Amino acid sequence: MSDRVCEPDKLRDDAPPAADVKFPMEIGEMFEGQRIRRPDMYAEFGGVDVPKKFELLLVKAMEEVEDGKVEIIGPDLPELKVGGSYTLGLLIHVAGKKIDKDIEGVLERRVHYFANYIEGVMHVNQRTDVWVRLSRKSYDKGLNTLRWVGRALILLFRRSLPIIEKIQITFITDPTMLEDYYQQALEVYKSRDERARGLMEEQVEEFYSCVLCQSFAPTHVCIITPNRMGGCGSISWFDARASSNVDPKGPNFPVRKGECLDPVKGIYTGVDEVVKERSLGAIEHIRLHTIFDQPHTSCGCFEAIAYFIPEVDGIGIVHRDFKGPTVNGLSFSTMAEHTSGGTQNAGFLGIAIEYMRSAKFLQADGGWSRIVWMPTQVKDRVKDSIPLEMFGSIATEKDAKTAGELKEFLKGKNHPVIQRWKEVAKEEAVPPKEEERAVAAEETPTVIPAGIEIPAMAGGFKIVLKNARIVAEKVIIKRAEKK
Ligand code: SF4
Ligand code: ZN
Repeated sequence: MSDRVCEPDKLRDDAPPAADVKFPMEIGEMFEGQRIRRPDMYAEFGGVDVPKKFELLLVKAMEEVEDGKVEIIGPDLPELKVGGSYTLGLLIHVAGKKIDKDIEGVLERRVHYFANYIEGVMHVNQRTDVWVRLSRKSYDKGLNTLRWVGRALILLFRRSLPIIEKIQITFITDPTMLEDYYQQALEVYKSRDERARGLMEEQVEEFYSCVLCQSFAPTHVCIITPNRMGGCGSISWFDARASSNVDPKGPNFPVRKGECLDPVKGIYTGVDEVVKERSLGAIEHIRLHTIFDQPHTSCGCFEAIAYFIPEVDGIGIVHRDFKGPTVNGLSFSTMAEHTSGGTQNAGFLGIAIEYMRSAKFLQADGGWSRIVWMPTQVKDRVKDSIPLEMFGSIATEKDAKTAGELKEFLKGKNHPVIQRWKEVAKEEAVPPKEEERAVAAEETPTVIPAGIEIPAMAGGFKIVLKNARIVAEKVIIKRAEKK
């Protein structure tokens, strides 16, 4: 099994059932990462403007799969208004003597990569966040039915994963028909995610890695533990283990834990070795359960962002579907720009929603007692995992729209972060000695997280550095002399 596919020309000469298929568009790795802007699109499916969408791959018995079949339930491309946003259910059934049900999640994640090999198709995210755009240019070239997309996916799955002996694909574009399938998909995701919940990092011999996203973020290596799912929310420790068993040289491989240097922050020598090697030296150390110092890298397909809110010394969460600004004045997409790319961004971390259910959820930062804000939709989704005493103390967009409103809300609820404000106030009340101040300023590089407005006064003008990221080796603060 490999995540590389053959040249586009060879793809056109594939074995039955696609033997005589001449695709109207090209297929190959060269299209990976293609972006289709709104004015260039024929139509889009899913994405933030469509409330219900999903992508689901199920392993079935041989006799349950009609090999090569592509079905469309609902309108096909010519029946859609150009430039519109539509419902999407992408349901894939596969069968094969060597395919285990455990590998469903990992195979499902391959849709993202394969769809992006198709000229004129942009595929982003996964599960109920899926978003697909088709270009007008490819439509005009002949990609004028979803059947072409289905056939191309079938071809790519078969070619790259010989364990798949039969595969059929269904597109559901009718919103009424989608409902039942959508509920079924939610049940499947839930049962997949629940599997790893009882297991702890301490109980397993090894973790797993995922490097699937390196084609988009070359220095990104997901470390998947029983307490930390991959950022996309699609690959749990069990999924990665199943994938590694089938294909140890593939994108999911075992990671020796090595020595555990800090069980709270999640520092393991074996993890650092793998991250360093697979990021080609770009990342040397990561800490699995913090958003601050040396956090895990974030690629771009994370389901949510955990971000620092300095005004209240707390952590906010925002998910992909949340429209509009959060309490720091920034939207998910603006913060995602600073969070993604396979780099470490202190104060910003891409996470899977399932990670919020983890027993080790941001434990180095205070876990749930540090969470101060999140959209109602996420709060509802993970409500069973929020400690009862914290539930009412975490604000949503209904309680606070700005940092100032959030501060008042937290005071009113006596949120645990208030204790931190008191401690900081106490420390600030004791002025450090002159030498300590100089040493502290020299030793600690000051990082002002991206996306924060920094007002400064100069020469009678107010300068606002919006979305600035400032790293300074030394900060000298002098009292202005009275003239
Ligand atoms: Fe793999 Fe992580 Fe990318 Fe998910 S986000 S596909 S787990 S590298
Ligand atoms: Zn990714």
